[in-house]
Amino acid sequence: MGKYTEPKCKLCRREGEKLFLKGQRCFTPKCAFERRSFPPGEHGRDAQFKRRTESEYRRQLREKQKTRRIYGVSEKQFRRYFRTALQKRGLTGEILLQMLERRLDNVVFRLGYAENRSQARQLVTHGHFNVNDRRTDIPSMLVRSGDNVEVRAGSHKRAYFKDLAAVAETRTVPAWLDRDLTHLSGKVLQDPDRRDVEATINEQLIIEYYSR
Ligand code: SF4
Repeated sequence: MGKYTEPKCKLCRREGEKLFLKGQRCFTPKCAFERRSFPPGEHGRDAQFKRRTESEYRRQLREKQKTRRIYGVSEKQFRRYFRTALQKRGLTGEILLQMLERRLDNVVFRLGYAENRSQARQLVTHGHFNVNDRRTDIPSMLVRSGDNVEVRAGSHKRAYFKDLAAVAETRTVPAWLDRDLTHLSGKVLQDPDRRDVEATINEQLIIEYYSR
């Protein structure tokens, strides 16, 4: 899957809102969006004033791009999630968001074991996590109710994981996950529901974008 190589803060500036892609820094005055809330690029500042009316298409496109960026998912994979959601019974938008939340990298992030989703993705790719006692290095893996995600025994000795429990403790865990800081693990209690999505997303716009 493709990976974003563009500076993260530029993505927030392009979307015109904070996407919280960097973790703690996003809550400090160092946040680039706080300092330069206009789009990146040579004419970014002008564009901020020029664009007064927004087409429906643009709103739909931006919502889709924003959601992709929040979860760090490629267009191809995002479209695949959408198609899968469309085939399932229930509200397509909610099922789509549920799948994004169930990604292993997102679960590692939501458990507080990574500062942001891209760091979570890297930790998973480097093989630091087990899912149901099996080493798993696929960030896009979708966890299910009953799954157990834990830092592998061999990784506990590493500097990053040694102090992780104290850092993770400061982070709130959503109700669909149960965290065990002693073992640096977490259990999936149930599928996430719409209220568990932290980001402000209008999934209806995404559906409209793909239904054109
Ligand atoms: Fe976005 Fe965070 Fe960068 Fe601020 S610090 S612009 S919220 S990624």
